[in-house]
Amino acid sequence: MGQGLSCTRNSDDGGLFNAVKIGDLECVESLLRRNPSLIHQLTVCDKLSSLHIAAANGQIQIVSMMLGKSINPDILNRNKQTPLMLAAMHGKIECVEMLILAGANILMFDSLSGRTCLHYAAYYGHSDCLQAILSAAQSTPVADSWGFARFVNVRDGKGATPLHLAARQRRPECVRILLDSGSLACASTSGYGCPGSTPLHLAARGGSLDCIRELLAWGADRLQRDSSGRIPYLVAVKYKHGACAALLNPSAAEPLVWPSPLKFISELNPDAKVLLERALVEANKEREKNIFKGTPYSLPSPSRSDAEIDDNISEISEAELCCICFDQVCTIEVQGCGHQMCAHCTLALCCHNKPNPNTTFLPIPVCPFCRSNISQLLVAKTKTGDELDIDLNSSKPTKSRKSLTLSEESSSFMGISGLGSFTKMGTRGSGKVADASDDSVDKPID
Ligand SMILES: [Zn+2]
Ligand SMILES: [Zn+2]
Repeated sequence: MGQGLSCTRNSDDGGLFNAVKIGDLECVESLLRRNPSLIHQLTVCDKLSSLHIAAANGQIQIVSMMLGKSINPDILNRNKQTPLMLAAMHGKIECVEMLILAGANILMFDSLSGRTCLHYAAYYGHSDCLQAILSAAQSTPVADSWGFARFVNVRDGKGATPLHLAARQRRPECVRILLDSGSLACASTSGYGCPGSTPLHLAARGGSLDCIRELLAWGADRLQRDSSGRIPYLVAVKYKHGACAALLNPSAAEPLVWPSPLKFISELNPDAKVLLERALVEANKEREKNIFKGTPYSLPSPSRSDAEIDDNISEISEAELCCICFDQVCTIEVQGCGHQMCAHCTLALCCHNKPNPNTTFLPIPVCPFCRSNISQLLVAKTKTGDELDIDLNSSKPTKSRKSLTLSEESSSFMGISGLGSFTKMGTRGSGKVADASDDSVDKPID
C-alpha cells in the first residue's frame, strides 16, 4: 500500500532506499556519510522517507539508526501515513515498539481513510502490534488528552472503529483484545460496510465464526439492525455463511456473556480470569453443540478426549469438587472468606445475559456461601503447583460426569445448566441463579 519502490529509480538517492529496504546498514551508513542530506530524501511517487521504508520492512537496525539521527518519527508520506502505521500494517512488532519508544504519535490519521495505526494493526490482524499500541495508549499523553476508552473506539473517515475492521477482516484475536480493552461491541458505522453496521454485521459479512463467538460473548446484540433494517443473521444468510447464521439466528439459544460485574472487580487476578474465560468458552461451545445439532455444520472435536478424562479421574477427590454443582473441580477462590467453587459456577454467579443500557448500577456479586461481597477472585490454592498446572492447561474432568447417563450433549457440564438457565433468567431481568431444572437448552434429553 504505497510503500513500493517502483518509482524510485528516477531519484538521485544513490541506492539508499534499496539499501534501507534490504537492511544493508553498512551501505546506508556510508551513503549518509557521503551525503548527510540524503536522510531527508523522499521517494518520488509516494513521498516515502527512509524511515517509512525501514519500518515497513522490519529493518530494526536501520530504524534505530535513523531515530538516532533525530529524524522525526512522525514524518508523513503522501498519504499522511506515519512510519508507525506502515510498521503496524506489516506486523513489524519490533519497529512498532521502537517507534513508540522514540515518541511516535499513536493518534495520527492518514489522509486515505482517516485511519490510525490502531486501525492498521486491527485491519491486518497483527495482534502483537495492536497490543503494543494499546499499551502505549495507556501510558502516553493520549490517555490524558483523549482518554483510553475513546482511543480504543477511535473512528476512521467512514465511522469504523478498529473493532469493525478486525471483525470484517476475520481477525478473532484482535477482536478479543479490543473487546477486552473496552471496545464497544454494538457501535454502528456511519459509512463503512453497509451504513449502520455493527461489528457483528461485519463479522457476519466476513464469515468468521470465531469473531462472532467473541462478539456474542462480549454482549453484541443479535437483534441490532443496520440502516437498511437487517440483523446480522440476514447478512450471514445473504453471504451464505451457514454456520455463522446458525449462531446469529435470534431463535437459537442465547449466548453467555462475559459478566459485566467481573469488569468491576478491581484488577481481576489474571490467572482467575483465564480460568473464567475458558469456562465461558466451554459453556458457549456446549450451547453451540445444541444449535448445530441437526444442521450440516459441525464443530471441531472437543479439546479433551475421553481418554484424558479417564486418565485424570482418579486424581480428583470428593473434597475438591465444587459444592455448588458437585461436577467440576474447585479452581476459583473468593479472596477474604476463602470459599471455593468451580469457574463455571463463578461465572454463573456473575453472569448477565446482556448489559442493560438502562441500568447504570450493577449489583456486586456476592459469595454464595457467606453472602459477602466478592471484591477479588483468585485461583484456588489448595493444590500443589503441578496439579494446578494440570487444571490450568486442560479442562477439568469430572468425577460425576463418568457416572452420568445423560446424553452426550447434555451431560457434559452440570455447571452449565445453571449458566444456561441463568441466561434465561437474565432476559427476564432477574439477577439470581435459576434452578437448572427449568432450562430447556441444557435439560437432559432422556
Ligand atoms: Zn461448580
Ligand atoms: Zn464466602
